[in-house]
Amino acid sequence: MNSFSSFRTLLIAAGLTAMANVAHAQQSPEVVAETFPQCIERLQLLARNSGVSENTTVDILGQVRPLPKILEYDRSQPEFVQTFTGYFSKRVTDWRMNKGREKLAEHSDFLSKLTQEYGVPAHYLIAFWGLETNFGNYKGKIPTISALTTLACDQRRSGYFSQELMQALLLLERENLDPNEMIGSWAGAMGHTQFMPTAYMKYAKDGDGDGKVDLWNNELDALASAAHFLQNLGWKTGFKWGREVLLPEDFDYQLAGKSQPQSLSFWSQQKVTQVGGQTLGDSDLKAAVLIPAGHTGPAFIVYPNFDVILRWNNSEYYGIAVGHLADRIKGQGTLSKPLPDLPNYTIVEMQQFQEKLNQLGFDVGVADGILGPATRKGVRAFQLTMGLIADGYPSKETVEAVKRAPLDKAEEKAVEELQSVVN
Ligand code: CA
Repeated sequence: MNSFSSFRTLLIAAGLTAMANVAHAQQSPEVVAETFPQCIERLQLLARNSGVSENTTVDILGQVRPLPKILEYDRSQPEFVQTFTGYFSKRVTDWRMNKGREKLAEHSDFLSKLTQEYGVPAHYLIAFWGLETNFGNYKGKIPTISALTTLACDQRRSGYFSQELMQALLLLERENLDPNEMIGSWAGAMGHTQFMPTAYMKYAKDGDGDGKVDLWNNELDALASAAHFLQNLGWKTGFKWGREVLLPEDFDYQLAGKSQPQSLSFWSQQKVTQVGGQTLGDSDLKAAVLIPAGHTGPAFIVYPNFDVILRWNNSEYYGIAVGHLADRIKGQGTLSKPLPDLPNYTIVEMQQFQEKLNQLGFDVGVADGILGPATRKGVRAFQLTMGLIADGYPSKETVEAVKRAPLDKAEEKAVEELQSVVN
């Protein structure tokens, strides 16, 4: 029995079928190492077909050795469910705000030119830079070509990383880079703004006009590249990302969620206001209400530019953090509502919670330990039947109620559903 199938058997024996599904698509680091020479041959063929020179194909790609630690990073599973409070408080810090203001002042003339050319306000460019690398303090030190080759030779996302590797090789040639200086995150993101090679090739710009596009060492190149990238992602000039809002006491939490945008006039009718009590207006601009920490936490309304931020990094937490950090850098105050002290669930606890909801007849999809839209929907349905505030958030109260709920209720519910179908 090879190590892969024994690992799989072990997982299934432990009842962790969801994890086994992920493991199914993975090779062991040993298998990746064994098949590495054939993989390099395949990638060299792809490189020649992609227009990479023979020298680079042989002398650089041909010399790459696998980095087993990259596969470890790629396979590592978080132990805890990330809460909004934990995420936000680590990222939107006074240090980042103050440093961001310094950088805004330092590059103010250049940033004004960028805003004129690309339509993206300076404080957003600074906020992205601050969140990605702490303004260049942490750009990653892993050799990009080796990292991408290792990931391209692993089954899990081979196609994506093979393409990124090709772009990295072409970038190396275009910018005449030393492969030892081409470094970044373990997943191949590079420089001040952590661009993947495809984004670097397509959108990076020479900001200081020295003829080179250097996202590792040149801050002006990095800022111009961020502006150009955001413009191409569809930034709407003249609009904010969103804002914190106040919800009325009797707010219908079933209206919340990014997949349910409504016009601002609709939200005004629902008595959603700015934090100072001012109206949101009555335009037909589409916006969604987010409650990332449940009804005890802050609420946000997000506009189309929020989707642009998510095209840079597809995480609602990230989008709110970029937007609010940008506002703070511009001079706005802190959130009006304090961040609630949320329970720290382990992934396993969240999976158990999801499994119980499924057993009770509230469909949350696969019990993957992730607090996604399907889980929120199932939680909301459960909360409604229990007379709890239906915010879809697994508060301590909700989790306890799920634990206590007897399973025979589920049978009753199934019978009711059957009856409603018959009637
Ligand atoms: Ca330059």
